[in-house]
Amino acid sequence: MRRPPGAATRGRARARPSHAGVPSWLSATLNFCSRCGQALDYGPIDGEERDRLSCPVCGFIAYVNPRLVVTSLPVTEGGEVILLRRGIEPGYGLWAQPGGFLEVDETAHDGAIRETLEETGLQVEPTRIVGLYSRPQAAIVVVTFEARIVGGEIRTGSEALEIVPFGPAEIPWAGIAFRTSTWALRDWVRQTRPDLAALVDDTPEPDA
Ligand SMILES: [Zn+2]
Repeated sequence: MRRPPGAATRGRARARPSHAGVPSWLSATLNFCSRCGQALDYGPIDGEERDRLSCPVCGFIAYVNPRLVVTSLPVTEGGEVILLRRGIEPGYGLWAQPGGFLEVDETAHDGAIRETLEETGLQVEPTRIVGLYSRPQAAIVVVTFEARIVGGEIRTGSEALEIVPFGPAEIPWAGIAFRTSTWALRDWVRQTRPDLAALVDDTPEPDA
């Protein structure tokens, strides 16, 4: 049951729990107006070019937008990339670069530094953007920076079971957690070691 008994509902929102373009797991969390608590409607709104969720009482429009995930590929002096084996879901036990959701009061650059420090113990300085990767099914956009290691000490924690440097030819492609990580690592290898580009073209792609 999506609403508490007795909660006010209006037909369209009740009849269409999944809103066009919004992943069902996300629309399941969008039931009530965050301003006044009224059940949201889904449908056309004057001045909007697509159907949207809105509040029939106060007029609040609940825009649903992807979130930005900020990640880094910390690179050692020897040209190896630091990956971590994830200690949390999603992707428990699989490899990914450090990263996480950008906070609302920080820049993407600062968010990548913070997440990398939290997950690996490494202080990094992002040097350039490797790529920007959209995953509408997960309602995210991932930015991946290449980063120079400027301090800190590698340490595992609740989020990382292992933290390991991999040479461009040693990346554990079959054990990568996310498509966006595979895409970023492929781009990084192509950009930094063009001689290995053919090697990464046929690497497997995870479902997540
Ligand atoms: Zn409202």
